[in-house]
Amino acid sequence: MLSVILPAYNEQDNVAVAASEISRLLSSHGIDYELIFVNDGSTDRTWLRLTQLAASDKKIKAISLSRNFGKESAIFAGLENARGDALVVMDSDLQHPPEVIIEMYRLWQQNDVDIVETKKRTRGNEGRAYKLFAKLFYKIIDRVSGLEISDTSDFKLIGRRAADALLRMPERLTFFRAMSSWVGFKTECVYFDVAERKSGKSKFSFRSLFKYAFTSITSFTSAPMQLVTMAGVITFIIAIIFGINTLYNTFTGNSAEGFPTVILLQLITSAIIMFSLGIIGYYLSKIYEEIKQRPRYIISEKRNFDNEDKE
Ligand code: UDP
Ligand code: MG
Repeated sequence: MLSVILPAYNEQDNVAVAASEISRLLSSHGIDYELIFVNDGSTDRTWLRLTQLAASDKKIKAISLSRNFGKESAIFAGLENARGDALVVMDSDLQHPPEVIIEMYRLWQQNDVDIVETKKRTRGNEGRAYKLFAKLFYKIIDRVSGLEISDTSDFKLIGRRAADALLRMPERLTFFRAMSSWVGFKTECVYFDVAERKSGKSKFSFRSLFKYAFTSITSFTSAPMQLVTMAGVITFIIAIIFGINTLYNTFTGNSAEGFPTVILLQLITSAIIMFSLGIIGYYLSKIYEEIKQRPRYIISEKRNFDNEDKE
């Protein structure tokens, strides 16, 4: 069986269209499936629509989180509640073309692969700043993590074996895209063109994306902490050069001249120290958050699951 996981945050006009398009497509190909919608604390009528859909079709399952936990948590809520042998994660705004599911499913079935990734051939109509930012973000992530996740998206098919491995990872602050690469296994890739959003607008503002990028990088790699060490080494070298210079000036009786150097050094070192403290502080806060061992999400309601008791 195939489980399709669709996180939805304020997608009242999209969920029904997504459900009917995907259902029609999968049944026309004779694939046994379940659709798992995860309502990520929507403030519009998304949950109402989902309960209606669930009431009319047993294959449509719905989970409601107790508040907006973010897309990452919604994805993991879906993964943990899915029963399929293969799990597909996709957006509920139909920007991920449903036909690609068939392509991924065939690859998984015939070639015995564990994970089928998708890469964006084109990025749809995203702003220039967004594109630049996304590119920079992935460059950094690729470089520091040693994984190739440039241009990949959350649109993925994951076989049971890989999904179980993924779900055994204990961290609270998740980064689905990178974690599903990290588990390894046999991976194939298909390409797709990002479609237009069916309705509504993107749930990510520039600010939230920046936060998302920063959280993702830091929850996945400690490389920025090494930046601090690097900065330390560089300042040390500069300090030695300036130190020798200052001593030389003192002995030759020109020491008053060194005043600008003092100011410059002050500025440079304090900047680097503050920057470094910032990075360290950020990691400390991450450790603090992880150590609290809070659940990734809290479910308030479920529809069409066997154990429907509220969690
Ligand atoms: N989403 C979510 N929780 C959030 C933000 C987004 O579940 O806090 C879902 C959203 O409903 C959609 C998917 O994540 O199904 C991608 O969001 P969106 O389309 O807004 O992002 P974009 O396509 O602009 O990157
Ligand atoms: Mg979208």
